[in-house]
Amino acid sequence: MLANTADGGAPPSVAAITSGGSMEPYGSPKWPDPDPPRPKYLPYSTRPPDPPQVRPPIKHSSVVAIFFLFGVLALVCAGAYFSGELRQLIYGPSAAQSQAPRPGLVPFGQRQEPLPGLEEADAPLGTPAPLNRTSSSYKFLAVKEDGTPLAYSPCRPIHYVVNPDLAPASWQPLVEEAVEKAGAATGLRFIYDGPSSEVPSPNRSGYQPERYGDRWAPVLIAWSTPEQVPRLTGQTVGLGGSSSIGLSNGYKAYVTGTVSLDAPQFAEIVNAPNGEEIGTAVIMHELGHLLGLDHVDDPRQLMFDQASWVRGYAAGDLTGLAQLGRGPCSKDF
Ligand SMILES: [Zn+2]
Repeated sequence: MLANTADGGAPPSVAAITSGGSMEPYGSPKWPDPDPPRPKYLPYSTRPPDPPQVRPPIKHSSVVAIFFLFGVLALVCAGAYFSGELRQLIYGPSAAQSQAPRPGLVPFGQRQEPLPGLEEADAPLGTPAPLNRTSSSYKFLAVKEDGTPLAYSPCRPIHYVVNPDLAPASWQPLVEEAVEKAGAATGLRFIYDGPSSEVPSPNRSGYQPERYGDRWAPVLIAWSTPEQVPRLTGQTVGLGGSSSIGLSNGYKAYVTGTVSLDAPQFAEIVNAPNGEEIGTAVIMHELGHLLGLDHVDDPRQLMFDQASWVRGYAAGDLTGLAQLGRGPCSKDF
């Protein structure tokens, strides 16, 4: 997040600089890891046969016997299927996650995750912009066991929606520019899905089929009040972060996230001279968290944990973002 001072007497551009507010990423970087121990996703085609249907009496007893045999076979297969390790596919998430059904094996409406692989291409959709110079002044919110940062899959687009109910009238170009910069730095492809009435919540579900259909919920960018988002209380002007999944093969990735902006403070910022530039920088900072960057103790970077004069991603931010755009792809989630 970025902090902002409410000191109306300070020069406007300083307003975003001087606060003493702390700056933290949004919530836990990790949304409940849906499932450690689970086998790879089983393709649709390997589902067991449907249970035998009740049929009207048939005159030929041999035909009846054959149908009966098929019926028994189907039941045996189904029994083995439901009791064996494939059961984990149906009751995917681990014990802590109770008995969440696995995608692909349970009808839409009864699943707790979307069908895997939606929009996942065979190769990254883009590449990070070349770095003019690298810098080690960046930090990741989460690093995996192999030492690489937790990131979004670059092989599928990041859809996002905006709840502008409390936003300043000029919100759209600010968001567009911030998203464009984050997309260029990472090579990740963002797609705007339009407005949403969803209000940020610390317990936001990563799968909201009633609202968004059978897919991971899109990233939510929303202007909120501290009443709606308690962590926006005080000088915090924004929060950003993402939720991740983990597969049994060790694959982990972010699937969705939220950027929350404190509506009253944000309005104050953009109404000041050069305010829109600062507002864009605030959104870029939060998108940095969303994509996996943590704060750095370096005032030259946009991911510095206090508001500053920095108005765009600097060398350290860009070096980190380029790595976050090179995460692994997977069609298994
Ligand atoms: Zn921050």
